[in-house]
Amino acid sequence: MIKCLSHKKVYLTVEIAEEALIGARTRFEYGNQSGPVGVYQCEDCGYYHLTSKGPINPRLAECQSNGRLKLEKEAQQWLDKIKHK
Ligand SMILES: [Zn+2]
Repeated sequence: MIKCLSHKKVYLTVEIAEEALIGARTRFEYGNQSGPVGVYQCEDCGYYHLTSKGPINPRLAECQSNGRLKLEKEAQQWLDKIKHK
């Protein structure tokens, strides 16, 4: 497990970080002004972290506009229901 000075979770590639970002937005209810919105390459560790600052990630924005996020959220809620039965 790679550790970073920032103590943030480390993602090895931008693709993994974006998937984690979309996954986080899928699993948790965030208001419009909270939660992670983007990924960035870290100057300390050279890998990627999620950030709640800055412009919204294009892939996340695409998922939000094309309905994938809503679909995944519904699917996740069903999975949670099944697991907690
Ligand atoms: Zn870092």
